[in-house]
Amino acid sequence: MTQHQVTVADVVAALEAAYPPALAESWDKVGLICGDPHAEVTKVAFALDCTYEVARRAVDTGAQMLVVHHPLLLRGVNSVAANTPKGRILHLLISNGCALFAAHTNADSARPGVSDILAELVGITPGRPIKPVLLGGVDKWGVHIPPADVETVMLALFAVGAGAIGDYAECSFGWEGTGGFTPQEGANPTDGTVGEHHTATETRVEFVAPTRLRRTLVDTLRAHHPYEEPAFDVIAMEDTTDLSTATGLGRIGELEEPMTLREFTQQVADALPETAWGVRAAGDPERMVRTVAVSSGSGDGFLADVAKLGVDVYVTSDLRHHPVDEHLAAGGPAVVDTAHWASEYPWTRQAEGIVRPLNVDTEIIALRTDPWTVSAHPHRDTHGT
Ligand SMILES: [Zn+2]
Repeated sequence: MTQHQVTVADVVAALEAAYPPALAESWDKVGLICGDPHAEVTKVAFALDCTYEVARRAVDTGAQMLVVHHPLLLRGVNSVAANTPKGRILHLLISNGCALFAAHTNADSARPGVSDILAELVGITPGRPIKPVLLGGVDKWGVHIPPADVETVMLALFAVGAGAIGDYAECSFGWEGTGGFTPQEGANPTDGTVGEHHTATETRVEFVAPTRLRRTLVDTLRAHHPYEEPAFDVIAMEDTTDLSTATGLGRIGELEEPMTLREFTQQVADALPETAWGVRAAGDPERMVRTVAVSSGSGDGFLADVAKLGVDVYVTSDLRHHPVDEHLAAGGPAVVDTAHWASEYPWTRQAEGIVRPLNVDTEIIALRTDPWTVSAHPHRDTHGT
């Protein structure tokens, strides 16, 4: 039996199906950073950051592809010369035939995504996002088709993404009626004669489809409909997304039992990978908490949002003195601050799970890339000896 050769493009396709690039924030740069899409892959490595040490480990372990969360080249670059920090990494990867791929805010927003793992680790079932990302809405379509052609036309439309509702595919509703038209000079009608009014039984089929597919569906309809001028209408629907399963940044959920902020902070510290400086919290340690918001990585931009959403405690990273102080003074939820690396590193397991079914070897690179490496508390001699 010949085994299908897995390529970089196959791994990219699997990851982009799970983490659609359209979910990425507008400022983000996600996808393939280096590597040949046609190159064969037998082993894929996973990490949060592509540091030089991580890239070295990926190459040494025999991987032809490294999948990370943080894009190596987020801002504009004018040089990837080997004597620059990032160029050195890219030269190491390229000269050893190792592709580099990043799934960043698209992996944050996707379901499941980075914050879903963080939510589960801190003890909640992930519910609605803090900031839903709604992908451009949904259209309702009505298409008129001769009954004998309904199946052919609808299968073509379903094949490019029409008719999906939640976990259901190929959804439609149809009924028969009478269509009428008079072909004008220059027309080449499938049925009927130029200059004579023609009536025929037609089926009206209704279905929904993402607005972003509108152009594709029009082209597909014209290619497969038997009529020279198919009759159809498209109406943009109001947003009816169920927020509890919506894509977007951050997650909100409830602890099974309320506990103090002190106990919850310990629970977070016990659940996340260990870092040099651990986990800290802001707020009254004895305050009871139950509703929890989490946002993996830097989440201070959501302090105002979580205050409005009625949560008791917000778990995120990279917090600063003034925003937290002002947030608490305004009566906002308690805040738990973890290392950025610790809140996102568990995602590597999720990404590995997406790639493993492709029949390639996988390896998570277990290097702690948290830049903070030392934490010190004063040795105070309280006895004055
Ligand atoms: Zn991050």
